[in-house]
Amino acid sequence: MTLEEIVTKSSGMVFFGGAGVSTESGIPDFRSEDGLYRQKYDVSPEVMLSASYFYAHPEEFFRFYREKMLPLHAKPNAAHKKLADWERAGKLLAVVTQNIDGLHQAAGSKTVYELHGSVHRNYCTKCRVFYSAEEIASGTGVPRCRCGGTIKPDVVLYGEPLDAATVEGAVRAIERADTLIVAGTSLTVYPAAGFIDYFRGDRLVLINRDATPLDGKCTLVVRGKVGEVLGELPSFLS
Ligand code: NAD
Repeated sequence: MTLEEIVTKSSGMVFFGGAGVSTESGIPDFRSEDGLYRQKYDVSPEVMLSASYFYAHPEEFFRFYREKMLPLHAKPNAAHKKLADWERAGKLLAVVTQNIDGLHQAAGSKTVYELHGSVHRNYCTKCRVFYSAEEIASGTGVPRCRCGGTIKPDVVLYGEPLDAATVEGAVRAIERADTLIVAGTSLTVYPAAGFIDYFRGDRLVLINRDATPLDGKCTLVVRGKVGEVLGELPSFLS
């Protein structure tokens, strides 16, 4: 079956994506040739994006975070847009994403499970007041709340647990899906990558530029750019 035939046949798809979904929007992923992990830093990005580093070295954390993790200029690409169309057309149940960039919502998707949080939510660790990404981006140094508390991005740093309600919603959606499309992810970040094991449906599709551990288990593997691949498919909007 071709991808177009699979998508046409499906009535309850779920999309599971990673950083590769946003590279065509100009946001580098972590593990590709030109990804963030291949760039040279004194402290590795994994360490810099850990909870222990955030609390021990907040100045350095926010320098890296503002420079590399706050791409507020980025716009949704053809993949984000097509998924929003499919949800509106009643063919897609949910997007489950490891991304923190908010581009699925910017494209119009409503049911989005952000397993690793979002740069668009930032909260005071003392009084829990929320701040926007723009407020974090426009400041310098460690962002402080009006109450004096440190503001923390609502993103899941290495060493932190995932939000239980988000995990439950994501797993339930994956369990209900008739087709699961996995795209733009190296499937190496756990526990997120393990959630696709809850899929019970008929058609498992992988769209990725590089090989992944899932390749041998799929109904269909498409080696390509997810924006280009999804962009060519029908939107099913009448
Ligand atoms: P990853 O960097 O480990 O892997 C990305 C995968 O996507 C690679 O296998 C690569 O071949 C593929 N890819 C890249 N561009 C592609 C494209 N246009 N089309 C198809 N495939 C493409 O990413 P990951 O598995 O998501 O894990 C990294 C973690 O980094 C995630 O937890 C995520 O939270 C975080 N992250 C998020 C963003 C973002 O929000 N945009 C950006 C970087 C990293």
